[in-house]
Amino acid sequence: MELEVLKEEARRKGSRLILAVDNPSHLSLIEKLKSLLAGVKLGTVPIISGKAENVIKKERDLYFISDMKIADIPEINSRIAEKLVEMGFRGMIFHLFPMSLEESVKLLHERGCDAIGVAMMSHRNAFIFEENFEKLIKYGITVDVDGFVVGATRPEYISRAREMTRKPILSPGIVKQGAMPGEAIRYGADFEIVGRAITESPDPVSAAEEIVKKEREVIC
Ligand code: C5P
Repeated sequence: MELEVLKEEARRKGSRLILAVDNPSHLSLIEKLKSLLAGVKLGTVPIISGKAENVIKKERDLYFISDMKIADIPEINSRIAEKLVEMGFRGMIFHLFPMSLEESVKLLHERGCDAIGVAMMSHRNAFIFEENFEKLIKYGITVDVDGFVVGATRPEYISRAREMTRKPILSPGIVKQGAMPGEAIRYGADFEIVGRAITESPDPVSAAEEIVKKEREVIC
């Protein structure tokens, strides 16, 4: 699939922005921001709050990604994936390091959904990811994931991933974790994931508009 639906949405709206929602009270922002968003990534807390499903059903046209960073044995990964597909998610994020993804990727492709693998975290001390970065990307390519998450705070890894694969790269870590809007795209990412810089802003619409503007300066 390689995130074709998300890419199409990005083209249509001229936006590479994926909103990260990690607090259930911010779910209501999605409706206000949707014209600026290529997609929405929901974290574990909003998903288990029981409030996400209604929002996904209501905003059917939006591309929702679940970010539970699934990292279990193959059978359980697939069970979690089935449940998330039922909830309306069209993409879901898995950890690559357990190397247990093959069945889930097949299942998701049969359902017309995408699997996205974490290749690099954006926080400090992610040494295990640094040491195994190329192995994680190669494993993701082998099992045919549709895209990779590479933190924007480590732009050199975005460039390396870009050299290794044409699959879409999604980059979190913008503003609150230190990367500037547009920076990850400049290094080769396809999408920028932004949470608190928008959700905790006194004016989320203006904050999102400003980020999209900066990203467009890089794309054009
Ligand atoms: O609020 P902020 O913009 O920092 O949110 C970043 C989002 O991206 C969070 O939902 C976080 O879980 C996620 N994420 C990340 N770094 C990764 C993978 C996911 O920050 N490498």
